[in-house]
Amino acid sequence: MKLLMHTCCAPCSIYCIDSLRGEGIEPVLYWFNPNIHPYMEYKARRDTLIEYSKLINAQLIINENYGLREFCKNVSDDIDNRCTNYCYLVRLEETVKYAKENGYDAFTSTLFVSPYQKHDELKRICEELSKKYDIEFLYRDFRPGFREGQNKARELELYMQKYCGCVFSEEMRYYNRNSIQTSNTNGYEIPKEPRMQVKKIENKEDYIDLLLEADPSKDMIHKYLNDSDVYALKKEDELISIAVILHIDRKTLELKNIVTKENFRNKGYAKTLLKSLCGNYKQKYDRMLVGTTENNIPFYVKQGFDKYEKTIKNFFIDNYKEEIKDGELTCTDLIYYSKDLKKK
Ligand code: SF4
Repeated sequence: MKLLMHTCCAPCSIYCIDSLRGEGIEPVLYWFNPNIHPYMEYKARRDTLIEYSKLINAQLIINENYGLREFCKNVSDDIDNRCTNYCYLVRLEETVKYAKENGYDAFTSTLFVSPYQKHDELKRICEELSKKYDIEFLYRDFRPGFREGQNKARELELYMQKYCGCVFSEEMRYYNRNSIQTSNTNGYEIPKEPRMQVKKIENKEDYIDLLLEADPSKDMIHKYLNDSDVYALKKEDELISIAVILHIDRKTLELKNIVTKENFRNKGYAKTLLKSLCGNYKQKYDRMLVGTTENNIPFYVKQGFDKYEKTIKNFFIDNYKEEIKDGELTCTDLIYYSKDLKKK
């Protein structure tokens, strides 16, 4: 199916794209949002979407239109009903026209992920446009994935807007500061996230199999495990990630092993665990070391391990019986970086 998806911003697009791709549908993203003001906000959202679409290899069509004047003219008579009377309609109709003129089979919108939009009104407008232009409207209620998408956006450090788009929504967010209005989900209950917690583990040996996924030698693990603290990141009672921290001296720690269960990888859990541990340890310790392979240096630098310490040449050749691979890389040297735990 050739699907054109009206896309309001990168964070909202994440879950919609992931879930459509899960169904085997590759949406083409269509940016047309003359409702976003002022210009620097418009630009920030548009540019973030351009960046994100490149990152995930999605096709993006930009229909450039910073429509401040046109928007204000059209909503000024009935500001309270601006969303349904003008804003949804103008954006979706432009999308539908483009889809029709360019041979798409169907259209949809990332607006269906937001619990803060008037979902039923959006659906009604799309159904009417579908009839008017004789093109399929692919309806999906993406709202159950709203939080997942937002979490992933935070993890990717995407720009995240603080208000819906127009100056009136900005006013509602910052000037009126009415908690009922600004958190209005139109009766939709956003699913609660299971509680995350970090717990110290006593029965360390029970976790050897998981630790072996990051350090494939039992002998090596046993050299540091007994003298180390082991922490688990859990969602309710389910284990997500574990980390092993060795005490080097009164002021220094070393992160010896950190690993996330396969089905939870690439969702930022290792970073969450590490951040929590660094936050706790900084009361008593000054720095944390990590020895890593070349491939993982960018990850650790991003987490604040930005001071190069030393390289142990041929560490993996000298200490492991078998060749150690990290993706395509054959590991040879162990490279140490450190994080200043007191640094803000
Ligand atoms: S609040 Fe959002 S949906 Fe409503 S008019 Fe403003 S930008 Fe459009």
